[in-house]
Amino acid sequence: MKGVITIDGPSGAGKGTVSKILAKRLGYQYLDTGALYRAVAWKAREENIDPDNEPALAALLKEIDISFEGGRICVDGTDVTSAIRTAEMGELSSRISALPAVRAGLFAFQRAMCLEGGVVIEGRDTGTAVFPEGKNKFYLDATLEERARRRYEELMARDPEATLEKTMDDIKKRDARDSSRDSAPLMKTEDMIYIDSTDLSVKEVVKKILNHLT
Ligand code: C5P
Repeated sequence: MKGVITIDGPSGAGKGTVSKILAKRLGYQYLDTGALYRAVAWKAREENIDPDNEPALAALLKEIDISFEGGRICVDGTDVTSAIRTAEMGELSSRISALPAVRAGLFAFQRAMCLEGGVVIEGRDTGTAVFPEGKNKFYLDATLEERARRRYEELMARDPEATLEKTMDDIKKRDARDSSRDSAPLMKTEDMIYIDSTDLSVKEVVKKILNHLT
């Protein structure tokens, strides 16, 4: 059976870029779990649902149809690939992802993909909650300054209001919330291979991961 590679870590550590390359190299599927939380955040805002209203979000989760195809992500038939990549959606997804009902609503889809095998899955809890029994679990990190710089580069093309300082503040706040929540917080466990990507190229990170695969 094809394996499962989980990659967790804070915002801007390079999980997405590295995971996509790995998946391509190995002929695996790629699942960006952050995009799922962002998709729910986008829909909640469309429907004017208060991000603290857990029952309303739980109801939304029962109805929502999220699909990935050819690198695009659609929510109930609307292509939201670009719309979910704003700082606002980053912040909103972090708020709603702290709610157990939201995590529970997205769990089955993620878990099913892992059980099928042949997937690189990345996020905050993929090696702890989604597929804890995995044999190839990684924690990708980088300094706050470097992560903010990378995120800012991504954001600046589509968000004229973005600044490096604001991006750094947002990331700091989001990381603190993601790591301190009760429900599946971001954390590194002993069975994860820790990689600091601050001074590494994407190619070097990919190579390190490939070298560790069992
Ligand atoms: O990785 P990305 O920045 O797209 O994730 C958006 C937000 O979704 C994160 O800040 C985090 O709060 C949440 N998330 C999560 N669990 C995951 C992936 C993302 O809580 N596995």
